[in-house]
Amino acid sequence: MNLINTKQQLLAEKFGYTEFRPGQEAIIDTILNRENVLGIMPTGGGKSVCYQLPALMLDGLTLVISPLISLMKDQVDQLNEMGIPATYINSTLSQEETNQRFRQVGQGEVKLLYVAPERLTSFDFQELLRYVPLSLLAVDEAHCISQWGHDFRPSYLSVAETIQQFDQKPPIVALTATATPQVAKDICQRLGIAYGNEIKTGFARENLSFQVVKNQKDVYLLEYLRLNKEQAGIIYASTRKEVERIYQLLTHHKIKAGRYHAGLSEAQRSSNQEAFLYDRISVIVATNAFGMGINKSNVRFVIHAQMPGNIESYYQEAGRAGRDGLPSEAILMYGAQDIQIQQFFIEQSESDITYRQSEHVKLQEMNQYAHTQMCLQRYILRYFGEENATDCHQCSNCLDEREVVDITVETQKVLSCVKRMGERFGKSLVAKVLTGSNDQKVKQWRFDQLPTHGLMKDWTQKDLTGLIDYLTAEGYLTPSEGQFPTLSVSNKGVQVLLGKESVSRKQNVVKQIVADDALFEKLRSLRLEIAQEQSTPPYIIFSAQTLKEVAEKQPQNALAFLDIKGVG
Ligand code: ADP
Repeated sequence: MNLINTKQQLLAEKFGYTEFRPGQEAIIDTILNRENVLGIMPTGGGKSVCYQLPALMLDGLTLVISPLISLMKDQVDQLNEMGIPATYINSTLSQEETNQRFRQVGQGEVKLLYVAPERLTSFDFQELLRYVPLSLLAVDEAHCISQWGHDFRPSYLSVAETIQQFDQKPPIVALTATATPQVAKDICQRLGIAYGNEIKTGFARENLSFQVVKNQKDVYLLEYLRLNKEQAGIIYASTRKEVERIYQLLTHHKIKAGRYHAGLSEAQRSSNQEAFLYDRISVIVATNAFGMGINKSNVRFVIHAQMPGNIESYYQEAGRAGRDGLPSEAILMYGAQDIQIQQFFIEQSESDITYRQSEHVKLQEMNQYAHTQMCLQRYILRYFGEENATDCHQCSNCLDEREVVDITVETQKVLSCVKRMGERFGKSLVAKVLTGSNDQKVKQWRFDQLPTHGLMKDWTQKDLTGLIDYLTAEGYLTPSEGQFPTLSVSNKGVQVLLGKESVSRKQNVVKQIVADDALFEKLRSLRLEIAQEQSTPPYIIFSAQTLKEVAEKQPQNALAFLDIKGVG
């Protein structure tokens, strides 16, 4: 029987799939060729098959190293149900159970053995490897091996070294859903994977539409849930406290939801998780502790009520929507204060300074995601090293119909202020100087003497900070590394200062007059009617400016209505 047949047959007979998903076959072929390989596939892409199938074709034992102890049991149960002899050894087992499993493996009764990285260095384990032939080594969640990965685990760092010291040299397959080019390179170096043996499938999730929402988070959330009643969705927040707050908010508004965070008992957590998995509740509010290995395919939306710390985590969590391939939404509700929470997490961690610095850089890149006007899917793909992706035509940036406004002059003002301040300060001080603040720090550095002081005093501090974030996201300004990034003007920015390049941005343009607009007049008389009913002056209901914007934009649903200034 030739190998191709065997592969296809096994896929059909054991796993019940008619064809390979992108990347699977190439990874499996490389393994069967006895070469090391790195597979990078999005969440839900089907990484498990990449080692489970060759495990069945090769003679000896396949060792699966995974940091996710909680998932081992599920995986092993699934394999056993398929008639594949598999087991796991981890800290949840008693000594007796552990010994028994070691014996089973020793007697060659098991094809796949799952272990946590710590186990590799234990004496029993090293002994076992002296007489059990290893046919394949699978390193799952391989990004944890890299210091540049977003989820670096010290226990994983030694995995590479330990593996190199094994007498047996089976092929290694490393798998991950999130690897920037830097992380991928690092994994390959550590595990001895040849350049070119990196198999990466497209990261784009075509059924996901990405959105960034900046205003009135709670109102938006409630309205969104009202419009999407009965749909399954996850709402992520960064802290337990915020999970509780949102949970109470929803309950108060009679929206049935579950919650999940480390402050709840194990029993509460698993009962809430099950209620969500089996569709007894459609919405769950959770910290990022929720979701690892959750195989619920009909999640229609993932809302981040607070910004996560990096794009890797964001894409992984957002990617839990729409695993069944049906249209789904990934919404980031952005608030400027979310950055501080993440900064706090980074500073609180016990990692070394280099690692913390790289986490701060990642946080900045996440922040820029919220401010770019580029296609959001393309922004994420570019982050993961896919330079040539095309626009998705369904994210909130692609669908942003606001007018493109030339902001070259405003940009020049900002950039020249950054220059004049010596490129040694962060965005909030730059915004203060431009808006003409006279606070102590401005005076201390004598920035009130600069010609750019107060140059944009008709801007609010918040809008100006937003503009600076936008200019940073678009690459006109370069932030330094670290917790308090200072800004400098990039080469691209210099071109703008020299008048060689112009800058534009989509923004709300409120037209001067729509007096001849019949709709505006209708709205105005409706406003008068309501005002009379409530015995209040009409401007309390809505300002004329708001009515003009309504007449101009004609929002078709409550969420679009909320986007209009003055609607709450
Ligand atoms: P990952 O680890 O990449 O997130 P999994 O290995 O858990 O993904 O697989 C995700 C889902 O895709 C699972 O439900 C699995 O059964 C399914 N799957 C994997 N390979 C195939 C395939 N070739 N054809 C159809 N479904 C597949």
